[in-house]
Amino acid sequence: MSGKQKLGTLLYLGDRLEIWVEPNQSKNFVFYQNKFWVNTRTAANSELINLEYDMFCETKLSQIIEKGIERLRSRKIKIQLDYTDGKTTFKKDMVLSVDEYLKLIDYSKKIDFKIGAYKKEWGINQIDVKQKNFVLFFNLDLIKFDAGDHINYVVAHELAHIFHRDHGSEFNSTLEKLFPSKRNSENFFDFKIPQLLNPASGQSNNLIIFLIVLLLAYGVWSIVSQWFAGIFTPPVKPTF
Ligand SMILES: [Zn+2]
Repeated sequence: MSGKQKLGTLLYLGDRLEIWVEPNQSKNFVFYQNKFWVNTRTAANSELINLEYDMFCETKLSQIIEKGIERLRSRKIKIQLDYTDGKTTFKKDMVLSVDEYLKLIDYSKKIDFKIGAYKKEWGINQIDVKQKNFVLFFNLDLIKFDAGDHINYVVAHELAHIFHRDHGSEFNSTLEKLFPSKRNSENFFDFKIPQLLNPASGQSNNLIIFLIVLLLAYGVWSIVSQWFAGIFTPPVKPTF
C-alpha cells in the first residue's frame, strides 16, 4: 500500500483540483500532475494547508499581473481628457498609453501592486499623492478562478482608473479600448464565478432553463395543433 490518500479539492485556475497526501514527500506542499500534494505533517493542519496554498497562488498570480501590467501600460488608446486653460475646461481627444499619460501628469512611472485577501473587491486603485505614484491591489482569489485572461481584465480595469477615477461612461469607453473583450470578462465575473463557487446552482439553473423550454415547446405545440385542428377537423356536431 502506498499510503496516498485523497484529502479533497482546491480551486485553481478555474478548476477544482484534487489534493492528496503523499507520506513520502519531504516538501509541505507541491503541485504536479495537475494535483496538489502535501506531506503527513501538513495534512494534519488545515491552517498550514491554507497558508501553503495561498503562498503558491500568490506566486502564480504575481507573475500574471506583472506581465499584464507590462503589456497593457504601453498600449496606445484614444481617450478624451479634460483640459483647462485656467478659466474653462474643455475636452480633448488624445492617443496615448498609460505610461505617456503618467508622464503628462508628471507622475512617477512606477506602478506598484500588492496582492491580498479582500472581501468585496477584485482590484483596488490607490494614489500615493506624496510619492506621485499609483498602487494597485489585487484579490488573491483571482487565481483560483482563472488562468489569466480575466485577471488581465481586472488589471486593465485598475489601469483605466489612472485616467478616470469613477465608473462613468468615459471610464467604460477607455477600458473597452484598453481591453476589447471587456464584456466577456464582465460576464465571467457575474455568472461563471458564482457557478464555480457553487456548482449546484449552475445545475439548478440548467434545470430551470430546461423546464422553461419544455413549457414554451408545449405552448407552441398546443397553439399549432389547435390551429391545424381548426382548419382540418370537420366541426363536431353538438350532441345532446
Ligand atoms: Zn473600478
